[in-house]
Amino acid sequence: MQYRVFFVVFVATSFLLIGCAPPEEEPELTVEQKIEQINEWLPDLKMELAMENKYACCLKEGCNQCLLAHGSCPCYNNLQEGKPVCGECYAGWQLGQGIDNDFTRDDVKLDTDHHH
Ligand SMILES: [Zn+2]
Repeated sequence: MQYRVFFVVFVATSFLLIGCAPPEEEPELTVEQKIEQINEWLPDLKMELAMENKYACCLKEGCNQCLLAHGSCPCYNNLQEGKPVCGECYAGWQLGQGIDNDFTRDDVKLDTDHHH
């Protein structure tokens, strides 16, 4: 009798311990691996948002500023409407990374009072 009670307590305790054990952790990524991961994600994110008509950037690579701040990019539309674009797009145009040959870097205006 005594033995049986002991056995039940033992089993119950084992289950409790297993239940409380922390789940196996993902191996920690190095900084380089994290950067690699982000660089893999960014083009996919842009593509996905572009398909939903939420991302229309005026740079060849597409800016990250609008993507990360809003989950969308209106810079190409803004450019066509003569409105200012984000800092990253503006800088991109100055470096010749603009996507549309109808515009030159002098046409691109910087959004100086853009606040979040
Ligand atoms: Zn932008």
